[in-house]
Amino acid sequence: MSKRVVILGGGFGGLAAARSLAKADVEITVIDRTNHHLFQPTLYQVASASLSPGDIAVPIREVLRHQKNARVVLGEVISIDTSARRVEMKCGAYSYDYLLVAVGAQTCYYGHPEWEKYAPGLKTISDAIRIRENILLSFERAEMTEDEKERRKQMTFVVVGAGPVGVEMAGAISEIARNCMSPDFRRIDTSRARVILVEALDRVLLAFDPRMSEKAKRVLEKMGVEVRLKSKITHIDGRGIYFGDEVIETANVVWSAGAAAPPLTKTLGVELDRMGRVKINPDCSIPGHPEGFVVGDAALFMENQKPLPALAPVALQQGEYVGNIIKRGLAPEKRPVFHYHDKGFIAVIGRGKAVLQYRNLTISGFFAWLGWIFIHIAVLVQWRNRYAVTTEWAWYYLGNRPGVRLITGHDLKDEKCST
Ligand SMILES: Cc1cc2nc3c(=O)[nH]c(=O)nc-3n(C[C@H](O)[C@H](O)[C@H](O)COP(=O)(O)OP(=O)(O)OC[C@H]3O[C@@H](n4cnc5c(N)ncnc54)[C@H](O)[C@@H]3O)c2cc1C
Repeated sequence: MSKRVVILGGGFGGLAAARSLAKADVEITVIDRTNHHLFQPTLYQVASASLSPGDIAVPIREVLRHQKNARVVLGEVISIDTSARRVEMKCGAYSYDYLLVAVGAQTCYYGHPEWEKYAPGLKTISDAIRIRENILLSFERAEMTEDEKERRKQMTFVVVGAGPVGVEMAGAISEIARNCMSPDFRRIDTSRARVILVEALDRVLLAFDPRMSEKAKRVLEKMGVEVRLKSKITHIDGRGIYFGDEVIETANVVWSAGAAAPPLTKTLGVELDRMGRVKINPDCSIPGHPEGFVVGDAALFMENQKPLPALAPVALQQGEYVGNIIKRGLAPEKRPVFHYHDKGFIAVIGRGKAVLQYRNLTISGFFAWLGWIFIHIAVLVQWRNRYAVTTEWAWYYLGNRPGVRLITGHDLKDEKCST
């Protein structure tokens, strides 16, 4: 009888594993709580109105439609029973011979879940649409109000966390405010919007070489972003963000300061790090359970005494590696150790501006940005997405017009009058 392989998560790690098992004699079940595979690296462009959700997400069913040994289940897994080899969903359960947990990460507010209401994180399509609508609504409210203080508040945008996502988000907001939106408004000058990037540590883009961090900071500042380093937020509410007694009034905060594994990892009953990631073995298996594996953002894998970064290539390589172990039915003692092939780091700062680091090679500026464009188009899952993204980018970058400035989820009945 064919072995049953249950894969939790149709993201980078889960799909890589499923695809590498395409020709294996196994029955694969991919369970995901969304019906789509999301290309997160370009999610900030949905949040900043330059791409549509459909450009960067594709139904998991469609990705696996020709793979006859795989089926897709839409559902949220709430617990894993490793001794019974079963995963439980709200409605139903699945038994497995092999399990792959590839459930990614979620936004973490370090013990302040109440901040989420004012400072959405960027992980899902719903998050991106919420952020996009907040940004666009702020400009609308600023245009409407007669109150100067309220206008300043609406036109102040704060991004918390200066990793790649924070840098990309702050650069994108500044760019649309300064270069794209001005001709559309009559009463406000959108180019006077204040964009602040807040970081608790002493430099932006911590994963990069310090010289690249410095370069990125200078470019951001040239674009009008205020970069505030060594600044720890103590509170966030409807008025703004607080650093002890100091408050910056803002209606618009984006949180990109932390990620943690989803609570599902706790149900495995094994050792986790403080971010909830499973401390996996050198073959990506769960300690004590050679038939179970965790890959990608939900796993803590140490290489050269350092944890592997939460990046798509890590999840992809681990997913493929586990798929091969399962395909070959390798016993634990025969499995090779997983090695990550470093693909480097890239962060976009704005149009024609990026920083790229690959081992000892560092590039910044236009060529790094071109590199980002080509890499991201190449790794999008389907040709339709590649075509759609290329067209939208051409529209935006050549014409200075982000194409998706729609507000669709806001009910004007809830709007308070400030005039
Ligand atoms: C905004 C943003 C920008 C990024 N930019 C880059 C970049 O430029 N370059 C780069 O290399 N990496 C980037 N990353 C990181 C990269 O996207 C992740 O490292 C990668 O997605 C991890 O893959 P994964 O398979 O572990 O998880 P994911 O790809 O996140 O997939 C996890 C899947 O599991 C599903 N899931 C979660 N919980 C459950 C459950 N309980 N039941 C069922 N399904 C569940 C989710 O719906 C999701 O589909 C970025 C991430 C974000 C959020």
